[in-house]
Parts: sequence; C-alpha cells; structure tokens
Amino acid sequence: MVEKSGEKLYLVEHFFSIQGEGKYAGVPSVFLRFGGCNLRCPGFGSYELEEKKIYGCDTLRAVYSNLYRRSWHSVADISELERIVRKYENRISYLPDIVITGGEPMIYADNSLFCSMLELLAERGHRITIETNATIAPPLKRYEIYKEITFAMAVKLSCSGEQKNRRVVPKAIEAIATMTKNSFFKFTLDRELVQKDGAKQIAEICEGYDNEIYCMPLGGSEEELRKNAPAVAKFCISHGYRYSDRLHVRLWNREEKR
Ligand code: SF4
Repeated sequence: MVEKSGEKLYLVEHFFSIQGEGKYAGVPSVFLRFGGCNLRCPGFGSYELEEKKIYGCDTLRAVYSNLYRRSWHSVADISELERIVRKYENRISYLPDIVITGGEPMIYADNSLFCSMLELLAERGHRITIETNATIAPPLKRYEIYKEITFAMAVKLSCSGEQKNRRVVPKAIEAIATMTKNSFFKFTLDRELVQKDGAKQIAEICEGYDNEIYCMPLGGSEEELRKNAPAVAKFCISHGYRYSDRLHVRLWNREEKR
C-alpha cells in the first residue's frame, strides 16, 4: 500500500480527454494519473478481481499498489512527463488544461520530482488542477508552486465508508481552501445520503470558507449515475450548491482513460 511516497513517483496512465467533473467540466485536458492512495472508500462499490471481491472507488487500478504496481511506471525524470504533454499538444493548436489525478496525488506532495513537474507545467502556462481527497496539506513553505494550483477538494462524506477522522482533516482543508488558487469543494453523494444528513455533513466541512461547492452523484457507471443524479440535482437546488455531472461517464460509461 502506497500511503505516503518518498522519492519514487508512479504514473499509472495518461490520456487526453475532457474534464468530466467540477468547475472545469467540459474543458479539454491532459490527465496524468498517479498511483497510490491513503484512503480506500469501501462504500463506493464492489468489484470482482481474480475471484476476489474488492470494495472501493472506480479507479482501483490507481489505488491498490499490491495488485497493480507492476503496471505502474516509475518516473525517473520530469522530461518524461514533459514529453507526454508535448505529444498531446502536437495534435492541437491550443494549450490544454492539465489534471493531476489518482489515486491520491497528494501522497507525492513532498516529492521533488512531483513539485518540479508542477513548476514546469505552470511555467509553460497550463492551468493545473489537482484532484484530491484534501486529507494532505500541501507543503506551501517548501514549495510555493502549490499557491498557483487549483485543487478540486473531493472531501469524502459518510457514503465513502471511510471513518470520519481519516476522511475529514480540517488542517489540510484549511490550507488548501485558503492558500491555493480558485480551489473548490466537490462532494459525491448517493440517493440515501441526500435523504439523510448529507447537507449537514457538507455544511460542517465547508463552514467558514467561501470556496464554491459542487455536488456530484455517485456513479462509476451510466446506470448508477442515472439512479443518483436526479436526487442530487434536487438537493443542489434546495441548498444552493452547484450540480456537477460526470460527463465522461455519460459519454463513455465505464471506459478507462476517459
Ligand atoms: S480517496 Fe479517491 S482514489 Fe482514494 S480510495 Fe477514495 S475515491 Fe478512490
């Protein structure tokens, strides 16, 4: 299990698609997905793998290092990452957004390769979003670059199946919400949580911050998304939150690298 990483930086996959969720939904973006996560979110679904049932999110391949690390690529140099981004750029005539995702990419927050990559991409003029569970504070004193990054703070609610003290880390949320650029909250809810205390949980997490709040239906497949979406849309209307769909799921269902 990769909980916090030293100097190794594992890239799971890269692809060029549209951002499907949150504030920049619809924007063409190059995705760099890094391996490892400090949470497991067993409430988000179950999958059969080699005759075993595994509980967790829809990016198991980026979370379970014991099962998937052989297919992860250990990045030796940031020029490798620059080459990947340039390869996609050569096909287009504009500067795409860069989305750093996982797993939980902030397990690499102190990794010098990871931070050099952020610096390089920011210098080249890309807008960078880090998709994070917001449980790890960026080391802002050591790496000022984090102030230039937008964080999509996907703080987990009780439907993730994680214990509250693991999924809600107030100090990390405060650092990200107040010290970084245009960062926003992005919560995932299912129909049950909407009926129960979803609004209370969100209010408790966001109290004192004026960052935008997006709510998104749980749904790794089109079918699951369709079940949860109307209830979450109504929930947003009732509470003044912004509704976020999952465009990539609507368009490509469970296809990977989308
Ligand atoms: S925090 Fe995100 S990547 Fe990690 S297990 Fe939960 S849903 Fe998956």
